[in-house]
Parts: sequence; C-alpha cells; structure tokens
Amino acid sequence: MSEKFLPFALPEIGEEEINEVVDALRSGWVTTGPKTKQFEADFAAFIGDDVEAIAVNSATSGLHLALEAVGIGPGDEVIVPTYTFTTTAEVVRYLGAHPVLVDVDPQTLNIDPQAIRRAITDKTRAIVPVHFAGLACEMDEIIAIAREHGLKVVEDAAHSLPTSYNGKLIGTLDTDATVFSFYANKTMTTGEGGMVVSKNPDLIKRCKVMRLHGISRDAFDRYVSKSPAWFYEVIEPGFKYNMPDIAAALGLHQLKKLRRFHLARMDMAERYDIELADLPLILPAKPHVGDAHAWHLYPVRLKPEAGVERGEFIQRMADLGIGCSVHFIPLHLHPIWRDSYQLSPAQFPHAQQAFEAEVSLPLYTRMTEADQTRVIAAIRQILGA
Ligand SMILES: *Cc1c(COP(=O)(O)O)cnc(C)c1O
Repeated sequence: MSEKFLPFALPEIGEEEINEVVDALRSGWVTTGPKTKQFEADFAAFIGDDVEAIAVNSATSGLHLALEAVGIGPGDEVIVPTYTFTTTAEVVRYLGAHPVLVDVDPQTLNIDPQAIRRAITDKTRAIVPVHFAGLACEMDEIIAIAREHGLKVVEDAAHSLPTSYNGKLIGTLDTDATVFSFYANKTMTTGEGGMVVSKNPDLIKRCKVMRLHGISRDAFDRYVSKSPAWFYEVIEPGFKYNMPDIAAALGLHQLKKLRRFHLARMDMAERYDIELADLPLILPAKPHVGDAHAWHLYPVRLKPEAGVERGEFIQRMADLGIGCSVHFIPLHLHPIWRDSYQLSPAQFPHAQQAFEAEVSLPLYTRMTEADQTRVIAAIRQILGA
C-alpha cells in the first residue's frame, strides 16, 4: 500500500480565485484598492446586523488594532485563555499591557467564565475570548462579567467563521470588536489576512487610521477646504496593517464559497462523531442546539485507557501517512509567558490535561470521503479497535 501522505491541512483555491488575482495583477492595482473595498463590503454583509468590517494583513494585526482602539495601554491587564495561539497574548504586550492567562472549561476548552472572575484586578481592562476550534464561548456570561466590571471585550474569532451563539453569528454579539483570520489553514483564506468587525463607528474609525500609518482623513477634511490629492496629515505613529488587493482577490471568492465549505466541514465532523464514538477518545464538545460550530479544527483527546501516549499516537498516524497536529501547546508552557509571569502547569489544570492528550485530526474541504475513511481506519488500527 503506497498511498500519498495526507497533510493535516490544505486550502481550497479555485480558478475563480486565481483569475481574480491575475486580474489584480493586470490592473496595476496590487495594494489596497477596489478589491479590498469590495471584500470588506461583502464580508460585512455576510456577517450582517449592520456591522462594519475593515480588512487587515493578519488577525494578529487586527487584534492589535482593536485592543489599541478600545484604549489598552501600558500597565493594563487583559484576560486571555492559556489554551490559544501566542497571538492572543502577544498583541497585549505590543501595547505595553500584560496578558493575564486563565484556565479553560474542561469540556469545551473555551475560556472559563469563573476563571475570568477570579483573575479580575483593579488593573483589568479587557477580556479576549477565543472560540476554540470554532465553538462559541459562553458569551452571555462573559459579556455580563465585562459589564459588571466595566471591561472591554474583543473576540479572537480566528477559528469561528462561521460560528453562531444563541442564533447570532459571531461578529454580531454585543462586544467591542471581533477579529477573524484568513491564514492559510483557516476556514477561508487570503494567504495572509484578517478582518476587524464592529458595530462601533468610533472604533472602526480609529482602526482605519491606525491601520495605515496614523493618517487621518478627518483631520484632512477639517483643516483643508480645498483638498489637493497630495495632501494628508499624520495624527499618530500608526501601523502598516492594510490588506493588499492581491489578497482581497482571494477573499472575494473564498467568501462566496464559505457556505459550501462550512457544509462540507459539518458533514465531516459529523462522520468523525459517529465513527469514532466507540473509541477511548474524548470527542469535541457540541454547540448549543441550533447553533453552528465552524469546525476549523476537530480536536480529540486520548483517554488513559487508549493505552497510547499523544506523541506516539501522532507518530504512528504519520507512519500510516496521515498528518495530525496539536492545538494548543498552552501559553503557560512557552518560555516567554512562563518566565515573564512565573507560570506553572498547576495553575491551569484543565488546559494542561487537555494539551497532554489532544490530537487535531485532519478536516478540510479538499479531503475526500476516501481520505476520511483512511483517517478513521488508521485511528482504529492504532487503538486496536
Ligand atoms: C491563527 C490564529 C491567530 C492568528 O491569525 P493570523 O491571521 O495568522 O494572524 C490568532 N488566534 C488564534 C486562536 C489563531 O488560531
């Protein structure tokens, strides 16, 4: 049996995307321009509820902009889950503030609202929930805690397009801003890219200014009655976070395919749910009835009775020609966060336990039914089932 290696993730890019990129190249407009503007409008319409959307060159940039716009600054504390990618904490440091890591719920692996409560001090300014794997956090509780303590909420929605909570799409909840990622392995891609979504026009305005060097069109309008095309004013030392039209060209068509991508992901997740149900695995938590899980990831955890350790399991899957991954190595284990804040695994028992047993299985739209059959057969073989 010499089957090809099945990678852990692959983007699905069609001729429509390729032609649109070529169109951008031929047009001569390769940086931010008409395609980015269209992509922002289409994305805002997809999310609905009259949100505004601004395209950026990564979710990391977007989270940085959103936290800056809600006023996070030196010495502030921002509560983030330890069970996430380092972005969620690093953007807090960009602003001179401190990420305060908290543990997750042992079932959902989403930030634990009780742990948020315990972490609040008089320096706490914001919470950044991460909808892990594409499953919504307990947002009613998180928003209630934020209201009670006067905190901002910026959602890290890198996994959650499209995810719903109580029937509402992530991006439309009553939070300050939501940031999506279009990194290569996310549920849709622009190669690199992200989107900041908010209903707050002041926040959007601030993000737009800071996205492009702190150049203000408002200052321009206010002080210059006759506006020559060459004139601009810089009001802040801003950033260079704009999305180029070459990337937006991909996004325009990926967004049109998103519903199909999502249906395919849901089908595959359901098949894993059914065909792995009898094995010594903790399967991913389900969304509330009627709500959508984006299924960016399909994270399983090996139970002790599986009799195989996580690292060995992944090696044996690789030996059988299947790529798996781990989400996440919790932040408290990485030297920068561990050493800066004297963190130890005992402070995050649920995240630590999950990490030690977690394997993310391949789940993406370019996988065929036969590919998934192979993954399931390999798992059964390794677990002796
Ligand atoms: C992928 C990811 C990000 C970063 O997204 P980029 O677009 O690569 O900056 C942030 N948070 C989480 C949870 C992620 O998985």
